[in-house]
This record gives sequence, structure tokens and C-alpha cells, in this order.
Amino acid sequence: SYVIGASCVDVTDRACVDECPVDCIYVGGRMAYVNPTECIDCGACEPVCPVEAIVPESDVAESEQDFIAANAAFFLEV
Ligand code: SF4
Repeated sequence: SYVIGASCVDVTDRACVDECPVDCIYVGGRMAYVNPTECIDCGACEPVCPVEAIVPESDVAESEQDFIAANAAFFLEV
């Protein structure tokens, strides 16, 4: 799945929310999150993010690995 990382925090531009064909991006707290069980890996969200916060899970930076779990965890709590 795609993962939203640190640069989204306090930005939450929401362009990705409008772009996602399966509506699996949700805004909560200080950032947006991708639901990993609903994401179809289409990549539509990646180019529209103004802060380049969204990348495929395989491309998540070493320093942002925690965001993989954070995106998934958001959907366990709601
Ligand atoms: Fe939605 Fe596609 Fe982005 Fe997954 S890759 S979050 S399905 S727009």
C-alpha cells in the first residue's frame, strides 16, 4: 500500500483524498492516513501531494518507517 509520511503533518492538503479512486485516505489528527487494507496501489495520490508526503511502502525512507505502522494503526483505532 501507499504510505503518508512526516511532511503531511500539519499540512493535510487533502488533494490526495479527492484523487483516491477507492476513498481510502482519511484525515485525522494532524495528518492524513492511507488505509492499507483498502489501498489498491494505483499511485494516483502520489503526484498530487504538494509536499510529496505519499510514497509506496517499498519506498518509505529509513527515517519514516514508523509511519507504515502509524497509517495502519489509525484504522484499528477508529
Ligand atoms: Fe488511494 Fe491509489 Fe493512493 Fe492507494 S495508491 S491511497 S488507492 S490513490
